[in-house]
Amino acid sequence: MIYLDNAATTKMFEGAVGEYKKFACDLFYNPSAFYREGVEVSKFLNKARNSILNKLGASQGNIIFTSGATESNNLAIFGSKRNGNWNYVFSMGEHPSVYNVARELERLGNKVSFVRLQENGEVDYDQLENLVNEKTRLVSVMHVSNETGVVNDIKKVCEIVKGKSNSLIHVDGVQAFNKIVFSLDDFDVDFYTISAHKFHGPKGVSALYVKNKNDLKNIVFGGGQEENYRSGTENVGAIMAMAWASENINVKTNFEKTMRLKAIMENILSTDNKIQIVKSQSPYILSVSYEGVNGETLARALQDEGVLISTGSACSTKKAGNRILENMGFDKNRIVSSVRISFNAYMSEEEVKDAGKIILNCAKKLAQLKV
Ligand code: PMP
Repeated sequence: MIYLDNAATTKMFEGAVGEYKKFACDLFYNPSAFYREGVEVSKFLNKARNSILNKLGASQGNIIFTSGATESNNLAIFGSKRNGNWNYVFSMGEHPSVYNVARELERLGNKVSFVRLQENGEVDYDQLENLVNEKTRLVSVMHVSNETGVVNDIKKVCEIVKGKSNSLIHVDGVQAFNKIVFSLDDFDVDFYTISAHKFHGPKGVSALYVKNKNDLKNIVFGGGQEENYRSGTENVGAIMAMAWASENINVKTNFEKTMRLKAIMENILSTDNKIQIVKSQSPYILSVSYEGVNGETLARALQDEGVLISTGSACSTKKAGNRILENMGFDKNRIVSSVRISFNAYMSEEEVKDAGKIILNCAKKLAQLKV
């Protein structure tokens, strides 16, 4: 089986599993406990915090551990919301864990506006500039699209937003952290979300970077863990495994390797002129369509051939249409034909070559059958 759905989730590193086990079986103590063992575990948690901050390239700021990027996104948005005449600005390209929060804010009576995407998949920076004003409380623009691999220019987003307002900026960096090279010190970002299971860590654990804690209020009430920003006993094993995975990834080396993998796939697929490819800067995600072939039919047929891909974000497969591709101006036919192929840095070029040939053959066969 060739697994090409790494944007949905990745296989955990063995070393990360070992780290999890260490904190599940040996150092299993509650980090909030007063006795020495508990204090020792809380010190490990703080080490993990510093390790994530360091890998983000942030020389200042805080890390709050949560149960996943969905929670981190909810925390950043609901936790920074304030009463009063504020408005909120979101990109139309966001993952449902941001987009549906935006819709909920709107339903609750807040002023919410959405920035369209350009044809190339990046947020429309001119429209963003028009929508932001001195009453904007929060702007949320993702770093790398989970659908297309398109990278937004976060530096530019920050310049535009901070140039016109005192608005806070949230960035969903789930498909960027430990995948593309960047440093938070180069951006004027207030909140940044990461998710461990996208970089070979465990599922159900995430970190939210918060530049200034005064900008945030807790949305979960309880025992006051994570300095009261996220009550609930920390998932210590998963947090330590996340930090282990992060520390053991060389982002630049992996980027270059994955770039070669993506190029191999693109070269094989583009030998057929019925293939349309979305150009994107992240080597980890490739969105393609084969004219006249339904994407879901193709993905299902490929499953029988031992190749696992997705018809789009795993979280939105059940929804009709595709908000992101629609926003980029794709016609209906192209949207229903779209599939997402996503790589990891640890697969071989041979595997990608084999998968490329299988995908192409399968699509050709289906095109002849007109399904
Ligand atoms: N944001 C993006 C861009 C994602 O790709 C995902 C995962 N599909 C999430 C948020 C949600 O992450 P989690 O599964 O950790 O809640």
